[in-house]
Amino acid sequence: MMIRPFELAFDIDGVFADTMTLFIDIAEKIYGLSNIRYEDITEYEIESFSGIDKMISTEIIRRILDGDHTSILAPLDGATPVLKRLNQHHRPTLFVTARPSADQIVGWICDMLSVEPADIAVVATGSFDDKAEVLIESDIRYFVEDRLDTCFQLNSAGVTPIVFRQPWNRKPHPFREIGNWQELESMILFE
Ligand SMILES: [Mg+2]
Repeated sequence: MMIRPFELAFDIDGVFADTMTLFIDIAEKIYGLSNIRYEDITEYEIESFSGIDKMISTEIIRRILDGDHTSILAPLDGATPVLKRLNQHHRPTLFVTARPSADQIVGWICDMLSVEPADIAVVATGSFDDKAEVLIESDIRYFVEDRLDTCFQLNSAGVTPIVFRQPWNRKPHPFREIGNWQELESMILFE
């Protein structure tokens, strides 16, 4: 599998942004919950994670979506250099998120990649189910995603998913999987 830069797009949370570490950090700092470990989050639906009250997890997610926190959202290891390199080969780099709004995250991506808003395209679908349509309209062939259900949906729609390995997607699947950004970089054909 060799991927050309213009064929590739990205999910944000859990792929580029280390949103789960931010979640855990907010849980500890604001709600005093110091017992949540990253590796223990084995379900995508954090609201149903047994280690945390559902109302609190909903509130933390709201804080993340609204940017209502002082904790730092960091990129996942190795993401930034690969995305910068891709952005130099093809613009705009496309990100498709199921967040209800792109407002908070566009500025973050621009800061992380040292690019202008015009150098990236961020589509917030508000729904996992609408990602495939956006990708097909943008002629995207490959999408890096951490939510397994979405990977199956994309595959059915003709977009090849690349699973970004996380504790919450450790169930059997037939898709190409990557454990880090260097692995993805080695799959990209930079001309
Ligand atoms: Mg995600």
